[in-house]
Amino acid sequence: MDTRTATSSLTSTVGDNLKAKILWGRTGAGRSFLRSLLASTPVVLAPLASITTFTTLTAFDGSFSAYIAAVADQGFWKITAQHGPRLTWQGVAAVACWVSFQALLFLYLPGPVRKGQPTPAGHVLTYRLNGVYSWVLTHIIYFSLGWTGLLDLAFIARNWSSLIAAMNIAGLLASVLAFVKAYTSPTHPDDRKFSGSSIYDFYMGIELNPRFGPDFDFKLFTNGHLGMMVWTLIDLSFTAYQYETRQVIDPALILLTILQFLYVADFFANEEWYLSTIDIAHDHYGFYLSWGCFCFLPTTYTIQAQYLGMHHSSDISTLHLAAVFTLGLAAYVVFRSANSQRHRARLFGRKALISGKPAEFITASYTTADGTRRESLLLVSGWWGWSRHANYTADLVFSYCMCALVGSTKVVVWTYAIWMTLILVHRCLRDEKRLGDKYGDKWAEYCRRVPWRFVPGVW
Ligand code: NDP
Repeated sequence: MDTRTATSSLTSTVGDNLKAKILWGRTGAGRSFLRSLLASTPVVLAPLASITTFTTLTAFDGSFSAYIAAVADQGFWKITAQHGPRLTWQGVAAVACWVSFQALLFLYLPGPVRKGQPTPAGHVLTYRLNGVYSWVLTHIIYFSLGWTGLLDLAFIARNWSSLIAAMNIAGLLASVLAFVKAYTSPTHPDDRKFSGSSIYDFYMGIELNPRFGPDFDFKLFTNGHLGMMVWTLIDLSFTAYQYETRQVIDPALILLTILQFLYVADFFANEEWYLSTIDIAHDHYGFYLSWGCFCFLPTTYTIQAQYLGMHHSSDISTLHLAAVFTLGLAAYVVFRSANSQRHRARLFGRKALISGKPAEFITASYTTADGTRRESLLLVSGWWGWSRHANYTADLVFSYCMCALVGSTKVVVWTYAIWMTLILVHRCLRDEKRLGDKYGDKWAEYCRRVPWRFVPGVW
């Protein structure tokens, strides 16, 4: 048996009549039109929010209240026409080159081949994991181009307006592509999810793992490569921009960049773990993931670096910086430890050691739509016995530290932490609903043994 599959192999086959009852991971149908419409409002609101944030940062010194006052006075479209992102051919060409270059790395760089989780329909996909090579090579090339003078290291910061406009369009085009592909040439038709509302399907996605050919996994490419890869480049570019414009680099910006490098490097160094996360294993691929990775992640996760790079040096005390940075590092250690405990537990089962002791599990079974009964192990020791989402708790603390380093009370600076709070609380609730459908009584037993979601005694 291959221990790299997250679950044990087939144990029994159930009849066709049971297939109709297998709903986990595919419960989209049946929501009302109004609920679907409301849930899909980010298709319009999210691009507008990216424009608003850009305008606030660049034209209103990062003050939402000043921006809102100007919009109330002159109207959204007038303010956007004056100060909003401007699409240029240079921006379009830069994004096109970036996507094409990353696609080539994704296709041709070597890397270990690993299996993902069984999908609701029972497929077990393989992935070539070359993210760490792509990330290192991309940064070496970026630095080399800067070193030789062929590229201004502050290129991204200087062309931010046109890049944001181009990334918005690229994200929309990728979402349309994913939507059309889901109807015309789905990779695994039996893993598609239809809600009954086209707008909701466009937003949340239809295909689980769209692929072009056998190897080009569009979701891993856009989420795992495009989005995460550009994060650190944007930080570097705004750091270079601050240096070029002020001949100093703010200590807060250096510490922020270190924390974000750690987060991104961790992601690529542990890329195999990413295959068992909700992004890859459970969320369908639509605007939410696609536009999110083309545009939302690059523009929102980097706001702190943008703010420091574009505005003024923070005059925050050394003690504050040291305390927040240390807390950030501690949160990172818990984040990594919780994620790797779960990963090791799923890989090595009862042979996994958690805090030096054999892992403790609840064995839960579930059925995929092909009628196969499988087993999963729910870890109940280590961080997963402390709370059901200790990795989220640590990630949240980490995100607040990243924002606190900036040393500003402006809401825009805290956007990333606010977003992480919303997404992780929402994710926790919807994942627990899915896990209840998937594992039934065994999930309830896990919740009894580990009653707290984020922090014992709090929630
Ligand atoms: P998890 O990595 O926690 O994965 C959740 C899955 O783990 C569940 O669906 C279930 O999958 C399995 N699981 C749940 N409980 C147990 C248990 N006790 N033992 C073993 N397996 C269990 O969540 P995410 O995929 O959302 O997040 C991955 C990481 O990414 C987190 O650290 C999170 O903080 C971070 N993240 C970062 C974001 C960002 O934008 N920066 C956004 C979202 C997440 P199964 O069905 O296989 O049982």
